[in-house]
Amino acid sequence: MNVRDSEHIIAELRDKESYVLTDNPKDADLILINTCSVREKPVHKLFSEIGHYHKKKKKGAKIGVCGCTASHLGEEIFKRAPHVSFVLGARNVSKISKAVNTERYLDIDIDYDESAFAFKDFRNNIYKAYVNISIGCDKQCTYCIVPHTRGEELSIPPELIINEARKAAKNGAKEIFLLGQNVNNYGRRFSGSLNHNIDFPELLNRISEIEEVERIRFTSPHPLHMDDKFIDVFVKNPKVCKSMHMPLQSGSTKILTQMKRGYSKEWFLNRALKLRELLPDVSISTDIIIGFPGETQEDFEDTMDVVRQVKFEQIFAFKYSPRPLTKAAEFPNQIDSKVGSARLQELQDVQDEILDEISKNKLNKIYDVYIEEIRSSGLLAGRSDNNALVQVEGDASLLGKTVKVKITNPKRLALYGEIIF
Ligand code: SAH
Ligand code: SF4
Repeated sequence: MNVRDSEHIIAELRDKESYVLTDNPKDADLILINTCSVREKPVHKLFSEIGHYHKKKKKGAKIGVCGCTASHLGEEIFKRAPHVSFVLGARNVSKISKAVNTERYLDIDIDYDESAFAFKDFRNNIYKAYVNISIGCDKQCTYCIVPHTRGEELSIPPELIINEARKAAKNGAKEIFLLGQNVNNYGRRFSGSLNHNIDFPELLNRISEIEEVERIRFTSPHPLHMDDKFIDVFVKNPKVCKSMHMPLQSGSTKILTQMKRGYSKEWFLNRALKLRELLPDVSISTDIIIGFPGETQEDFEDTMDVVRQVKFEQIFAFKYSPRPLTKAAEFPNQIDSKVGSARLQELQDVQDEILDEISKNKLNKIYDVYIEEIRSSGLLAGRSDNNALVQVEGDASLLGKTVKVKITNPKRLALYGEIIF
């Protein structure tokens, strides 16, 4: 989501202010730091980054802070780092022109702003286009700061999404990657009194009607909204890639209730195992929080049980980080950090074994790989339909094309192979 926000900012600066991009901070007239605030660590990093760029930048160059940490710290950023020129929240990227032209500009308002979607097209990678389908989040997960930084959840009107996807596809993006905090809740609420009578499965079908689009991915769906209709379209629509991100957070129903996630261990397992049954080649990834307040050894074992049963192809696991403005930060039963670290390590060890097993079975398999980029190693990199990262030798003429690859060297994090045709 932050990557897409950065693309929006760049588009606006190029279009309205004639800026061009540079990789060299010493050349820059403007240095933008786009921030996350989901966990505490990136927030600390922000101030060391500001200090680093302040030393490196040329005289007169401006530093701007954007994104979720801008939203939640606001004015405090100017106090702690007086050389910052502007602070622009995650929901305010459309104000970037005003920000660069106003001294000490602060905009962290989370009111809805329709102009937020009227951007020129800019993409870091023309072969794969991120498209926002909703902004904000209406859920109240007790650990999460996102609803405070990105505001209430609003779906973007379908015509805007389809037009953006069509334009990106015409410019070379055969893969469209839909973004939102709860994508499968799409269509519940639009801005003002508009009602477009469309849900997420219908949106997937409508995007798949764009001829140039070959692949559709999305993140994050919420396990609570994984009803049969959604699973049916996911399974049956051939353009929808067969990889699902299912953010588990915890395998313990007790902890899930305290997190206010709205589903149980049994519901999650039912949905994940149903997908495995309907699509034996599906890949499933997840997010897990370890050491949420009150997590006992038994709760942790429930999480490990789900990990062992589902055999996720990828896990993003982090230790619980207490965040300001969230309910869980006030819970009295916070977990000792060492206990959290030990559980995280145990989870990672078990997951490594699972991944070794999964990757071993991929030797000699043949995948359709959509080539997206050239790595610094010189290898081409792309993804199989079910999201395995595959690297092969080849030349730039293959960018944006789908090739058949035989896997000759499967590793935990990437599969290496040879193009067969
Ligand atoms: N909307 C998505 C998540 C967005 S935040 C969902 O509901 O799944 C991305 C991930 O950050 C979450 O899935 C969660 O695993 C992690 N996260 C959020 N708040 C956290 C916190 N306080 N401590 C640790 N991890 C957190
Ligand atoms: Fe945060 Fe929960 Fe919303 Fe995801 S669904 S962004 S975890 S509040």
